[in-house]
Amino acid sequence: MADIIQLLPDHVANQIAAGEVVQRPASVVKELMENAIDAHASEIKLLIKDAGKTLVQVIDNGSGMSITDARFSFERHATSKIKSAEDLFKLNTKGFRGEALASIAAIAHVELKTKQELDDVGTQIVIEGSEVKSQEPVVTPTGTSIAVKNLFFNIPARRNFLKSNTVELRHIIDEFHRVALAHPSIQFSMYHNGSESFHLPGSNFRQRIVNIFGIKTNEKLVPVNEATEVLTVSGFVGKPEYAKKTRGEQFFFVNNRFIKSAYLNHAINSAFDGLLKDGKHASYFLDLTVNPETIDINIHPTKTEIKFDDEHTLYAILRSAVKHSLGQFSIAPVLDFDR
Ligand code: ADP
Ligand code: MG
Repeated sequence: MADIIQLLPDHVANQIAAGEVVQRPASVVKELMENAIDAHASEIKLLIKDAGKTLVQVIDNGSGMSITDARFSFERHATSKIKSAEDLFKLNTKGFRGEALASIAAIAHVELKTKQELDDVGTQIVIEGSEVKSQEPVVTPTGTSIAVKNLFFNIPARRNFLKSNTVELRHIIDEFHRVALAHPSIQFSMYHNGSESFHLPGSNFRQRIVNIFGIKTNEKLVPVNEATEVLTVSGFVGKPEYAKKTRGEQFFFVNNRFIKSAYLNHAINSAFDGLLKDGKHASYFLDLTVNPETIDINIHPTKTEIKFDDEHTLYAILRSAVKHSLGQFSIAPVLDFDR
């Protein structure tokens, strides 16, 4: 019998990997914004056209890349962020897999411009479906601009699967909010089809929440602060009377990364026990800081789910911290003494 197993060519492997990392334009937004943060940018601009279907561009004033690194950044498993498996448990960057740019370049038209501070000119790379079309010198400010055009141009099935512009834009705004809330000291702006949708100057967490969700939010925030050996909690919960019918404003950040956790969400609900009317959801904006060695971020392609070593302890601390804050602001259930 003839042998039938062969290695897939790189561009095919990249396209397959892309299916996991890039589900929709919002996934590109997340990956590019996280790269800008990892490059220590203090200003990040997001430009969107047609809800990201024709353009997602992120411009940052971060470190930029050398000519060689710029080319190398599109290779699979090419990263400047980790060197060994142990580093996975000491992460202080958003990225670590070295897969995002390779994946994105496999399924879109990408134009990268980047320059490091000490260089006079930068470098520009055009890459389409994993194929490098050109690399040449370019005059560009220090930092990086990556434009991702025509997402899924070579995978019509995926392109057709995209939802309406309204839905895709909603996903983009959600990602933008999550990243902006996790990094209040960085200035962010977002433009859709040429007009500014958000301008968020660098500030603190409370101000960032108010800038995003509106001035009325300010009075409904109750501070939460708790520091223990295993967990530091800081941030805000919404007063019970402002609870919402939808689950909109619920944010956990673990070591500055937005995560979803039904279990920790339950801890909050249980702290609110008896304070919320039926069917209403508490709002919360909570930063959790834990020792990076006690979490595993590498369990999900989009890194929004993580594994904690000791979830039960975190649950208890979180619940008690929120209960304490609600109590301090004398937001206890109203007891009826007249009967
Ligand atoms: P990862 O973020 O997991 O390392 P990416 O594919 O997202 O993988 O990026 C690959 C590499 O390209 C990064 O490790 C980084 O060195 C470089 N890079 C990507 N985006 C930027 C940026 N905006 N500024 C500076 N360097 C960048
Ligand atoms: Mg990355």
